[in-house]
Amino acid sequence: YIIFQYVISLHVTDTSQRKEIDDTLATFALSPTQLQEVKAKMRVELERGLKKDSHPTASVKMLPTYVYRTPDGTERGKYLALDLGGTNFRVLVVKIRTGMRNSVRMYNKIYAIPLEIMQGTGEELFDHIVQCISDFLDYMGMKNTRLPLGFTFSFPCNQTGIDKGDLVSWTKGFKATDCEGYDVVDMLREAIKRRNEFDLDIVAIVNDTVGTMMTCAYEDPKCQIGLIAGTGSNVCYMEEMNNIEFVEGDEGQMCVNTEWGGFGENDNTEDIRTRYDREVDGGSLNPGKQRFEKMTSGMYLGEIVRQILIDLTKRGLLFRGHITERLKTKGIFETKFLSQIERYKKKELRSILQSLGLDSTCDDSIIVKEVCGAVSRRAAQLCGAGMAAVVDKIRENRGLDHLEITVGVDGTLYKLHPHFSTILKDTVRELAPNCKVDFILSEDGSGKGAALITAVIDKYLYAMRF
Ligand code: BGC
Ligand code: MG
Repeated sequence: YIIFQYVISLHVTDTSQRKEIDDTLATFALSPTQLQEVKAKMRVELERGLKKDSHPTASVKMLPTYVYRTPDGTERGKYLALDLGGTNFRVLVVKIRTGMRNSVRMYNKIYAIPLEIMQGTGEELFDHIVQCISDFLDYMGMKNTRLPLGFTFSFPCNQTGIDKGDLVSWTKGFKATDCEGYDVVDMLREAIKRRNEFDLDIVAIVNDTVGTMMTCAYEDPKCQIGLIAGTGSNVCYMEEMNNIEFVEGDEGQMCVNTEWGGFGENDNTEDIRTRYDREVDGGSLNPGKQRFEKMTSGMYLGEIVRQILIDLTKRGLLFRGHITERLKTKGIFETKFLSQIERYKKKELRSILQSLGLDSTCDDSIIVKEVCGAVSRRAAQLCGAGMAAVVDKIRENRGLDHLEITVGVDGTLYKLHPHFSTILKDTVRELAPNCKVDFILSEDGSGKGAALITAVIDKYLYAMRF
Protein backbone atom coordinates (compact mmCIF):
# COMPACT_ATOMS: atom_id res chain seq x y z
CA TYR A 1 0.00 0.00 0.00
CA ILE A 2 2.79 2.40 0.91
CA ILE A 3 4.61 1.66 -2.33
CA PHE A 4 1.39 2.14 -4.22
CA GLN A 5 0.88 5.53 -2.57
CA TYR A 6 4.41 6.56 -3.36
CA VAL A 7 3.97 5.68 -7.01
CA ILE A 8 0.75 7.62 -7.12
CA SER A 9 2.34 10.64 -5.50
CA LEU A 10 5.01 10.63 -8.17
CA HIS A 11 2.49 10.56 -10.93
CA VAL A 12 -0.19 12.96 -9.88
CA THR A 13 -0.47 15.80 -12.25
CA ASP A 14 0.99 19.15 -11.39
CA THR A 15 -2.40 20.77 -11.22
CA SER A 16 -3.79 18.42 -8.61
CA GLN A 17 -0.62 18.85 -6.53
CA ARG A 18 -1.03 22.56 -6.89
CA LYS A 19 -4.60 22.32 -5.70
CA GLU A 20 -3.61 20.33 -2.62
CA ILE A 21 -1.04 22.93 -1.69
CA ASP A 22 -3.46 25.78 -2.33
CA ASP A 23 -6.13 24.10 -0.22
CA THR A 24 -3.70 23.70 2.64
CA LEU A 25 -2.61 27.32 2.52
CA ALA A 26 -6.20 28.51 2.16
CA THR A 27 -6.83 27.44 5.77
CA PHE A 28 -4.53 30.33 6.74
CA ALA A 29 -6.36 32.97 4.71
CA LEU A 30 -8.72 35.12 6.77
CA SER A 31 -11.64 36.86 5.10
CA PRO A 32 -12.56 40.45 6.02
CA THR A 33 -15.55 39.05 7.91
CA GLN A 34 -13.36 36.68 9.88
CA LEU A 35 -11.02 39.52 10.77
CA GLN A 36 -13.97 41.65 11.92
CA GLU A 37 -14.98 38.74 14.11
CA VAL A 38 -11.52 38.48 15.63
CA LYS A 39 -11.63 42.19 16.40
CA ALA A 40 -15.09 41.88 17.98
CA LYS A 41 -14.09 38.88 20.08
CA MET A 42 -10.91 40.59 21.23
CA ARG A 43 -13.02 43.54 22.32
CA VAL A 44 -15.26 41.27 24.39
CA GLU A 45 -12.21 39.72 26.06
CA LEU A 46 -10.66 43.13 26.82
CA GLU A 47 -13.89 44.07 28.61
CA ARG A 48 -14.07 40.75 30.44
CA GLY A 49 -10.52 41.23 31.67
CA LEU A 50 -11.40 44.64 33.11
CA LYS A 51 -14.57 43.62 34.95
CA LYS A 52 -14.26 42.60 38.57
CA ASP A 53 -16.26 39.36 38.23
CA SER A 54 -14.67 38.05 35.06
CA HIS A 55 -11.13 39.38 35.66
CA PRO A 56 -9.83 36.36 37.61
CA THR A 57 -10.70 33.89 34.85
CA ALA A 58 -10.36 36.06 31.74
CA SER A 59 -8.31 34.74 28.81
CA VAL A 60 -6.95 38.25 28.21
CA LYS A 61 -5.71 39.02 31.70
CA MET A 62 -5.65 42.85 31.65
CA LEU A 63 -3.01 43.20 34.36
CA PRO A 64 -2.55 46.51 36.18
CA THR A 65 0.95 47.99 35.90
CA TYR A 66 0.81 50.88 38.39
CA VAL A 67 2.21 53.13 35.70
CA TYR A 68 -0.09 56.16 35.80
CA ARG A 69 1.54 58.44 33.30
CA THR A 70 3.96 58.51 30.42
CA PRO A 71 7.20 60.52 30.76
CA ASP A 72 7.03 64.26 30.11
CA GLY A 73 10.67 64.76 29.18
CA THR A 74 11.80 66.22 32.50
CA GLU A 75 13.06 62.90 33.86
CA ARG A 76 16.70 62.54 34.67
CA GLY A 77 19.25 60.42 36.49
CA LYS A 78 21.34 57.29 36.17
CA TYR A 79 19.68 53.91 36.45
CA LEU A 80 20.33 50.24 36.16
CA ALA A 81 17.99 48.13 34.08
CA LEU A 82 17.54 44.42 33.49
CA ASP A 83 15.80 43.01 30.48
CA LEU A 84 14.68 39.38 30.74
CA GLY A 85 12.30 37.51 28.49
CA GLY A 86 13.04 38.58 24.93
CA THR A 87 15.59 37.23 22.52
CA ASN A 88 18.47 38.18 24.86
CA PHE A 89 19.06 38.84 28.56
CA ARG A 90 20.71 42.20 29.09
CA VAL A 91 22.01 44.34 31.90
CA LEU A 92 22.11 48.06 31.23
CA VAL A 93 23.06 51.33 32.75
CA VAL A 94 20.95 54.19 31.42
CA LYS A 95 21.72 57.89 31.81
CA ILE A 96 18.88 60.32 31.22
CA ARG A 97 19.76 63.98 30.98
CA THR A 98 17.21 66.58 31.85
CA GLY A 99 15.80 69.34 29.75
CA MET A 100 15.83 67.74 26.34
CA ARG A 101 14.34 64.73 24.78
CA ASN A 102 16.62 62.40 22.86
CA SER A 103 19.21 62.56 25.58
CA VAL A 104 19.39 59.02 26.81
CA ARG A 105 22.69 57.20 26.89
CA MET A 106 23.03 53.51 27.46
CA TYR A 107 25.70 50.95 28.10
CA ASN A 108 24.68 47.35 28.01
CA LYS A 109 25.94 43.83 27.91
CA ILE A 110 24.14 40.81 26.57
CA TYR A 111 24.27 37.54 28.47
CA ALA A 112 23.17 34.13 27.31
CA ILE A 113 20.72 32.21 29.42
CA PRO A 114 21.43 28.55 28.81
CA LEU A 115 18.43 26.31 28.21
CA GLU A 116 19.13 24.27 31.33
CA ILE A 117 18.83 27.47 33.37
CA MET A 118 15.69 28.69 31.60
CA GLN A 119 14.12 25.37 32.44
CA GLY A 120 15.91 24.55 35.71
CA THR A 121 14.99 25.75 39.19
CA GLY A 122 13.93 29.29 40.01
CA GLU A 123 16.89 29.66 42.39
CA GLU A 124 19.34 28.73 39.66
CA LEU A 125 17.73 31.18 37.27
CA PHE A 126 17.85 34.12 39.67
CA ASP A 127 21.36 33.22 40.86
CA HIS A 128 22.44 33.30 37.23
CA ILE A 129 20.83 36.70 36.72
CA VAL A 130 22.61 38.10 39.78
CA GLN A 131 25.89 36.66 38.58
CA CYS A 132 25.43 38.50 35.28
CA ILE A 133 24.66 41.74 37.16
CA SER A 134 27.82 41.24 39.21
CA ASP A 135 29.87 40.78 36.05
CA PHE A 136 28.33 43.90 34.54
CA LEU A 137 28.99 46.04 37.61
CA ASP A 138 32.63 44.89 37.61
CA TYR A 139 32.90 45.63 33.92
CA MET A 140 31.49 49.14 34.44
CA GLY A 141 33.46 49.71 37.63
CA MET A 142 30.22 50.35 39.52
CA LYS A 143 30.17 47.73 42.28
CA ASN A 144 29.91 50.33 45.01
CA THR A 145 27.43 52.74 43.48
CA ARG A 146 23.98 51.74 44.51
CA LEU A 147 21.76 52.78 41.61
CA PRO A 148 17.99 52.42 41.42
CA LEU A 149 17.06 49.47 39.23
CA GLY A 150 14.16 48.89 36.86
CA PHE A 151 13.51 45.26 35.98
CA THR A 152 11.93 44.56 32.62
CA PHE A 153 10.44 41.13 33.05
CA SER A 154 8.51 40.11 29.95
CA PHE A 155 6.05 37.65 31.40
CA PRO A 156 2.56 38.02 32.87
CA CYS A 157 2.81 39.35 36.43
CA ASN A 158 0.01 40.05 38.78
CA GLN A 159 1.14 43.41 40.12
CA THR A 160 -0.05 44.94 43.37
CA GLY A 161 2.38 47.86 43.12
CA ILE A 162 5.04 49.19 40.79
CA ASP A 163 7.66 47.04 42.54
CA LYS A 164 5.53 44.00 43.33
CA GLY A 165 4.47 41.32 40.88
CA ASP A 166 3.68 37.63 41.19
CA LEU A 167 4.54 35.63 38.11
CA VAL A 168 1.24 34.26 36.77
CA SER A 169 2.83 31.72 34.44
CA TRP A 170 5.93 31.36 32.33
CA THR A 171 5.54 31.81 28.58
CA LYS A 172 7.80 31.43 25.53
CA GLY A 173 10.87 29.27 26.26
CA PHE A 174 10.94 29.62 30.05
CA LYS A 175 9.87 27.00 32.54
CA ALA A 176 11.93 27.37 35.72
CA THR A 177 10.41 25.64 38.74
CA ASP A 178 9.11 27.32 41.92
CA CYS A 179 8.50 30.73 40.37
CA GLU A 180 4.86 30.78 39.33
CA GLY A 181 2.77 32.44 42.00
CA TYR A 182 5.82 34.09 43.62
CA ASP A 183 6.89 37.72 43.63
CA VAL A 184 9.59 38.25 41.03
CA VAL A 185 11.12 41.20 42.88
CA ASP A 186 11.38 39.11 46.07
CA MET A 187 13.09 36.33 44.16
CA LEU A 188 15.61 38.80 42.75
CA ARG A 189 16.22 40.38 46.18
CA GLU A 190 16.76 36.97 47.74
CA ALA A 191 19.25 35.99 45.06
CA ILE A 192 21.15 39.25 45.69
CA LYS A 193 21.20 38.41 49.39
CA ARG A 194 22.43 34.87 48.73
CA ARG A 195 25.35 36.25 46.77
CA ASN A 196 26.05 38.78 49.51
CA GLU A 197 28.35 40.89 47.38
CA PHE A 198 26.46 44.06 46.48
CA ASP A 199 23.14 45.69 47.10
CA LEU A 200 20.56 47.04 44.68
CA ASP A 201 17.55 49.23 45.01
CA ILE A 202 14.81 47.56 42.95
CA VAL A 203 12.29 50.27 42.18
CA ALA A 204 10.07 48.89 39.43
CA ILE A 205 9.07 45.73 37.64
CA VAL A 206 8.06 46.45 34.08
CA ASN A 207 6.54 44.47 31.25
CA ASP A 208 8.41 44.97 27.95
CA THR A 209 5.28 46.40 26.29
CA VAL A 210 5.15 49.07 29.00
CA GLY A 211 8.85 49.87 28.63
CA THR A 212 8.34 50.19 24.90
CA MET A 213 5.36 52.52 25.30
CA MET A 214 7.27 54.68 27.80
CA THR A 215 10.32 54.94 25.56
CA CYS A 216 8.27 56.07 22.60
CA ALA A 217 6.16 58.39 24.74
CA TYR A 218 9.37 60.11 25.80
CA GLU A 219 9.72 61.18 22.15
CA ASP A 220 6.04 61.42 21.21
CA PRO A 221 3.36 62.34 23.79
CA LYS A 222 0.69 60.78 21.54
CA CYS A 223 2.16 57.35 22.23
CA GLN A 224 -0.22 55.57 24.60
CA ILE A 225 0.09 52.01 23.37
CA GLY A 226 3.01 49.59 23.45
CA LEU A 227 3.24 46.58 21.13
CA ILE A 228 5.72 43.73 21.10
CA ALA A 229 5.81 41.53 18.01
CA GLY A 230 8.88 39.45 18.68
CA THR A 231 9.62 36.16 20.37
CA GLY A 232 6.29 36.74 22.14
CA SER A 233 3.27 38.90 21.35
CA ASN A 234 1.60 41.44 23.62
CA VAL A 235 0.08 44.91 23.95
CA CYS A 236 -0.36 47.48 26.72
CA TYR A 237 -2.25 50.78 26.63
CA MET A 238 -3.45 53.64 28.83
CA GLU A 239 -6.88 52.75 30.24
CA GLU A 240 -9.25 54.90 32.28
CA MET A 241 -9.03 54.09 36.00
CA ASN A 242 -12.80 53.93 36.32
CA ASN A 243 -12.88 51.11 33.75
CA ILE A 244 -10.35 49.05 35.70
CA GLU A 245 -12.85 47.67 38.17
CA PHE A 246 -10.47 45.59 40.26
CA VAL A 247 -8.14 48.49 41.11
CA GLU A 248 -9.21 51.11 43.66
CA GLY A 249 -9.70 54.64 42.39
CA ASP A 250 -11.58 56.29 39.55
CA GLU A 251 -9.36 59.22 38.70
CA GLY A 252 -7.00 59.41 35.76
CA GLN A 253 -5.48 56.53 33.88
CA MET A 254 -3.31 53.49 34.37
CA CYS A 255 -1.39 51.47 31.84
CA VAL A 256 -2.89 47.99 31.47
CA ASN A 257 -0.80 45.04 30.30
CA THR A 258 -3.39 43.16 28.25
CA GLU A 259 -1.47 39.86 27.88
CA TRP A 260 -3.45 39.35 24.69
CA GLY A 261 -1.30 36.31 23.93
CA GLY A 262 -3.80 34.35 26.03
CA PHE A 263 -6.68 35.23 23.69
CA GLY A 264 -8.35 32.01 22.55
CA GLU A 265 -7.69 30.05 25.74
CA ASN A 266 -11.46 29.90 26.25
CA ASP A 267 -11.89 28.16 22.87
CA ASN A 268 -13.42 31.20 21.15
CA THR A 269 -10.94 31.19 18.26
CA GLU A 270 -11.11 27.48 17.44
CA ASP A 271 -12.81 28.29 14.12
CA ILE A 272 -9.64 29.89 12.78
CA ARG A 273 -7.08 27.53 14.30
CA THR A 274 -5.72 24.88 11.97
CA ARG A 275 -4.45 21.37 12.71
CA TYR A 276 -0.93 22.79 12.40
CA ASP A 277 -1.64 25.32 15.15
CA ARG A 278 -2.86 22.48 17.33
CA GLU A 279 0.26 20.44 16.65
CA VAL A 280 2.51 23.38 17.56
CA ASP A 281 0.48 23.98 20.71
CA GLY A 282 0.61 20.31 21.69
CA GLY A 283 4.39 20.21 21.33
CA SER A 284 4.95 23.44 23.29
CA LEU A 285 5.99 23.96 26.93
CA ASN A 286 2.49 25.24 27.78
CA PRO A 287 -0.17 23.32 25.82
CA GLY A 288 -3.54 25.05 25.65
CA LYS A 289 -2.07 28.38 26.80
CA GLN A 290 -1.10 31.52 24.87
CA ARG A 291 -3.05 30.44 21.80
CA PHE A 292 -3.06 33.88 20.16
CA GLU A 293 0.66 34.25 20.83
CA LYS A 294 1.23 30.89 19.17
CA MET A 295 -0.40 32.19 15.97
CA THR A 296 1.33 35.57 15.99
CA SER A 297 4.83 35.51 17.46
CA GLY A 298 8.34 34.74 16.28
CA MET A 299 8.84 31.84 18.62
CA TYR A 300 6.02 29.86 17.00
CA LEU A 301 5.59 31.00 13.38
CA GLY A 302 8.59 28.97 12.27
CA GLU A 303 7.16 25.95 14.06
CA ILE A 304 3.85 26.30 12.22
CA VAL A 305 5.79 26.50 8.96
CA ARG A 306 7.73 23.37 9.91
CA GLN A 307 4.53 21.44 10.69
CA ILE A 308 3.05 22.38 7.31
CA LEU A 309 6.24 21.40 5.50
CA ILE A 310 6.31 18.03 7.27
CA ASP A 311 2.72 17.41 6.27
CA LEU A 312 3.21 18.47 2.64
CA THR A 313 6.28 16.22 2.48
CA LYS A 314 4.37 13.28 3.91
CA ARG A 315 1.77 13.84 1.22
CA GLY A 316 4.50 13.72 -1.42
CA LEU A 317 4.09 17.36 -2.37
CA LEU A 318 7.50 18.58 -1.24
CA PHE A 319 11.14 17.49 -0.91
CA ARG A 320 10.40 14.43 -3.07
CA GLY A 321 8.42 12.98 -0.21
CA HIS A 322 11.51 12.62 1.93
CA ILE A 323 11.44 13.89 5.52
CA THR A 324 14.97 14.64 6.70
CA GLU A 325 16.18 14.70 10.31
CA ARG A 326 16.71 18.39 9.82
CA LEU A 327 13.03 18.97 9.09
CA LYS A 328 12.18 17.03 12.24
CA THR A 329 14.28 19.45 14.32
CA LYS A 330 12.33 21.87 16.49
CA GLY A 331 13.10 25.57 16.13
CA ILE A 332 15.03 25.52 12.82
CA PHE A 333 13.01 28.36 11.31
CA GLU A 334 13.96 31.29 13.51
CA THR A 335 12.43 34.69 12.78
CA LYS A 336 15.55 35.82 10.94
CA PHE A 337 15.33 32.87 8.53
CA LEU A 338 11.60 33.34 7.94
CA SER A 339 12.37 36.96 7.13
CA GLN A 340 15.15 35.97 4.73
CA ILE A 341 13.04 33.36 2.97
CA GLU A 342 10.31 35.91 2.35
CA ARG A 343 12.71 38.58 1.25
CA TYR A 344 14.52 36.71 -1.50
CA LYS A 345 13.80 35.52 -5.01
CA LYS A 346 14.12 32.09 -6.52
CA LYS A 347 17.90 31.95 -6.82
CA GLU A 348 18.91 32.94 -3.33
CA LEU A 349 16.06 30.99 -1.81
CA ARG A 350 17.59 27.65 -2.51
CA SER A 351 20.86 28.58 -0.89
CA ILE A 352 19.06 29.88 2.22
CA LEU A 353 17.23 26.59 2.51
CA GLN A 354 20.48 24.77 1.92
CA SER A 355 22.11 26.72 4.73
CA LEU A 356 19.25 25.48 6.91
CA GLY A 357 20.18 21.95 5.87
CA LEU A 358 17.15 21.52 3.62
CA ASP A 359 17.99 20.32 0.14
CA SER A 360 15.32 21.59 -2.16
CA THR A 361 14.46 21.74 -5.79
CA CYS A 362 13.56 25.07 -7.29
CA ASP A 363 9.85 24.27 -7.02
CA ASP A 364 10.31 23.25 -3.40
CA SER A 365 11.83 26.54 -2.43
CA ILE A 366 8.96 28.44 -4.03
CA ILE A 367 6.46 26.36 -2.07
CA VAL A 368 8.39 26.92 1.18
CA LYS A 369 8.25 30.64 0.54
CA GLU A 370 4.49 30.47 -0.04
CA VAL A 371 4.03 28.57 3.20
CA CYS A 372 6.04 31.19 5.12
CA GLY A 373 4.01 33.93 3.44
CA ALA A 374 0.67 32.42 4.40
CA VAL A 375 1.69 31.94 8.03
CA SER A 376 3.26 35.37 8.55
CA ARG A 377 0.44 37.12 6.74
CA ARG A 378 -2.14 35.58 9.05
CA ALA A 379 0.01 36.55 12.05
CA ALA A 380 0.18 40.19 10.96
CA GLN A 381 -3.55 40.30 10.22
CA LEU A 382 -4.42 38.82 13.60
CA CYS A 383 -2.21 41.38 15.37
CA GLY A 384 -3.88 44.07 13.28
CA ALA A 385 -7.36 42.87 14.24
CA GLY A 386 -6.36 42.84 17.91
CA MET A 387 -4.88 46.32 17.62
CA ALA A 388 -8.05 47.58 15.91
CA ALA A 389 -10.02 46.40 18.96
CA VAL A 390 -7.65 48.26 21.30
CA VAL A 391 -7.66 51.59 19.44
CA ASP A 392 -11.43 51.59 19.01
CA LYS A 393 -11.81 50.93 22.72
CA ILE A 394 -9.57 53.89 23.54
CA ARG A 395 -11.52 56.05 21.07
CA GLU A 396 -14.83 55.09 22.71
CA ASN A 397 -13.36 55.57 26.21
CA ARG A 398 -12.73 59.17 25.28
CA GLY A 399 -16.06 59.66 23.53
CA LEU A 400 -14.37 60.60 20.25
CA ASP A 401 -15.54 60.16 16.67
CA HIS A 402 -11.97 60.22 15.56
CA LEU A 403 -8.80 59.26 17.43
CA GLU A 404 -5.19 59.98 16.60
CA ILE A 405 -2.79 57.81 18.51
CA THR A 406 0.72 56.40 18.35
CA VAL A 407 1.82 52.85 19.03
CA GLY A 408 5.38 52.26 20.21
CA VAL A 409 6.61 48.97 18.78
CA ASP A 410 9.48 46.62 19.40
CA GLY A 411 10.27 43.01 18.55
CA THR A 412 12.25 41.00 16.04
CA LEU A 413 9.24 40.00 13.95
CA TYR A 414 8.16 43.59 13.44
CA LYS A 415 11.69 44.80 12.81
CA LEU A 416 13.14 42.05 10.64
CA HIS A 417 10.24 40.70 8.62
CA PRO A 418 9.81 42.28 5.19
CA HIS A 419 5.96 42.35 5.17
CA PHE A 420 4.72 41.94 8.72
CA SER A 421 4.55 45.63 9.64
CA THR A 422 2.89 46.65 6.36
CA ILE A 423 0.16 44.01 6.65
CA LEU A 424 -0.37 44.87 10.31
CA LYS A 425 -0.86 48.56 9.52
CA ASP A 426 -3.15 47.86 6.53
CA THR A 427 -5.32 45.65 8.70
CA VAL A 428 -5.63 48.27 11.44
CA ARG A 429 -6.57 50.87 8.85
CA GLU A 430 -9.30 48.64 7.42
CA LEU A 431 -10.73 47.48 10.72
CA ALA A 432 -10.52 50.75 12.64
CA PRO A 433 -11.34 53.41 10.03
CA ASN A 434 -12.11 56.04 12.68
CA CYS A 435 -8.62 55.94 14.11
CA LYS A 436 -5.42 57.29 12.66
CA VAL A 437 -2.78 55.03 14.12
CA ASP A 438 0.93 55.79 13.80
CA PHE A 439 3.51 53.18 14.58
CA ILE A 440 6.93 54.21 15.77
CA LEU A 441 9.81 51.87 16.40
CA SER A 442 11.19 51.97 19.85
CA GLU A 443 14.92 51.84 19.92
CA ASP A 444 15.63 49.45 22.71
CA GLY A 445 12.35 49.95 24.49
CA SER A 446 12.56 47.24 27.10
CA GLY A 447 15.80 48.48 28.61
CA LYS A 448 15.38 52.22 28.25
CA GLY A 449 11.74 52.02 29.30
CA ALA A 450 12.52 50.37 32.62
CA ALA A 451 14.95 53.21 33.36
CA LEU A 452 12.38 55.84 32.32
CA ILE A 453 9.76 54.36 34.62
CA THR A 454 12.29 54.31 37.40
CA ALA A 455 13.03 57.95 36.61
CA VAL A 456 9.34 58.90 36.64
CA ILE A 457 9.01 57.29 40.08
CA ASP A 458 12.21 58.92 41.27
CA LYS A 459 10.93 62.31 40.24
CA TYR A 460 7.63 61.63 41.95
CA LEU A 461 9.31 60.49 45.18
CA TYR A 462 11.52 63.58 45.04
CA ALA A 463 8.47 65.81 44.60
CA MET A 464 6.76 64.08 47.57
CA ARG A 465 9.51 65.24 49.90
CA PHE A 466 8.43 68.87 49.51
C1 BGC B 1 4.49 37.52 27.63
C2 BGC B 1 4.26 39.02 27.73
C3 BGC B 1 5.31 39.74 26.89
C4 BGC B 1 5.35 39.20 25.48
C5 BGC B 1 6.40 39.87 24.62
C6 BGC B 1 4.58 37.10 26.17
O1 BGC B 1 4.91 35.74 26.11
O2 BGC B 1 3.43 36.83 28.25
O3 BGC B 1 4.33 39.44 29.06
O4 BGC B 1 5.01 41.11 26.88
O5 BGC B 1 5.59 37.82 25.51
O6 BGC B 1 7.68 39.68 25.13
MG1 MG C 1 12.63 42.81 24.36
